[in-house]
Amino acid sequence: MRKFATLLLFLATLTLQAQNFNDYFTDRTLRIDYIFSGNAKETHIAVDELCTSPRWYGKRQHLAELPMEGNGQITVRSHQNGKVIYRNSFSTLFQEWQSYPEAEHVTKSFENVFLVPMPKDTVEVTVDLRDNRRNIVATLTHEVVPTDILIRHIGERNITPFVTLQQARDTSRCIHIAFVAEGYQKQEMDTFIKDAKVAIDAIFAHEPFKSHRDCFNIIAVESPSEDCGTSSPSEGIWKNTALHSHFDTFYSKRYLTTLHLKDLHDWLAGTPYEHIIVLVNTDQYGGGGILNSYNLSMTHNKWYRPVVTHEFGHSFAGLADEYAYEEEQIPMYPHDIEPWEQNITTRVNFHGKWENLIAPAKAAKKELKKYDPKVGFYEGAGYSLKGVYRGYPNCRMRDNTTPYFCPICQQAITRVIDFYTK
Ligand SMILES: [Zn+2]
Repeated sequence: MRKFATLLLFLATLTLQAQNFNDYFTDRTLRIDYIFSGNAKETHIAVDELCTSPRWYGKRQHLAELPMEGNGQITVRSHQNGKVIYRNSFSTLFQEWQSYPEAEHVTKSFENVFLVPMPKDTVEVTVDLRDNRRNIVATLTHEVVPTDILIRHIGERNITPFVTLQQARDTSRCIHIAFVAEGYQKQEMDTFIKDAKVAIDAIFAHEPFKSHRDCFNIIAVESPSEDCGTSSPSEGIWKNTALHSHFDTFYSKRYLTTLHLKDLHDWLAGTPYEHIIVLVNTDQYGGGGILNSYNLSMTHNKWYRPVVTHEFGHSFAGLADEYAYEEEQIPMYPHDIEPWEQNITTRVNFHGKWENLIAPAKAAKKELKKYDPKVGFYEGAGYSLKGVYRGYPNCRMRDNTTPYFCPICQQAITRVIDFYTK
């Protein structure tokens, strides 16, 4: 009887959620392109362009909730009653750039692209950006009228060819991942597909991805490049590639990224995607991962497997880096502020992070067995040797040689997977 009641409750929740989505949205995607601009002291947000494409591949439940806080948020409100009907969080390369010396003396602009479900009625969309003290430093609210004739229709024909590499158990309630080819010429697509399979093997060799593998639907989008490889400005090498990626991002030699977010989403238009993994056809070490924006990694270097997995930890689950170098201290996380990232702490407001994984002081011997005795506080994380702590000696988010995510990261990733699929 109890089982039956649970089932009924489950069905009722399902119907409620379905109604909720269908009350406000159609099965289409609204893509909003923004320009974020500014310098070390100023931040500005402007709308660039609106596009719509068939089907919606993001969440259909927890619509007004966030998977994590992020360095920025996008909120969609009903124009009629002001109710929040969709929210998501993200981080950006722009905000990272604002902490570099270049931002002290020049103002720059960056493309950013966000996907929301296509509203049925007029909505107000708010984008806000936060600093590393978690204060909102810029906000923009604009109206979107779904019948606006200037919303460009994309992804309806001439869709980039793609291959499905893994089908989720339930494609209506799963996490959609797309691999995108960067620096692969047309005749190299077999190599790209092979490289994407290596990344899948690497990521799903790690818990908790391993035991949640059937929650993920994965495609590989064959975006061809004119030239093979990627640009390397410090060596004077410039290539014409699908996403115009390059090393030396922000003058940091090994930092490989693309700033062409609009091109990235143009290649993806009409394919089933939400989370993006860009594979760059090079053997030079490099990569980057930005929460709910993209994960980018080189493919033909011996560290490819750990790097693509590590960067997915950033882009999918918003995990922080758990390392710190003697020679380079970046004041990314002020020691008097608790960071929102779930795998590091300044111990200012630790509550809700990994306290449940630490054995209580008075726990009985039998109880203790449930806990990993190594979970605790280890100083040195988030690019700071002092004042920022991780919860475990080693982790995939700390170095390339540890073959697992620590229990703290595993818990955080599981929470994100559950958020999207339950
Ligand atoms: Zn970790």
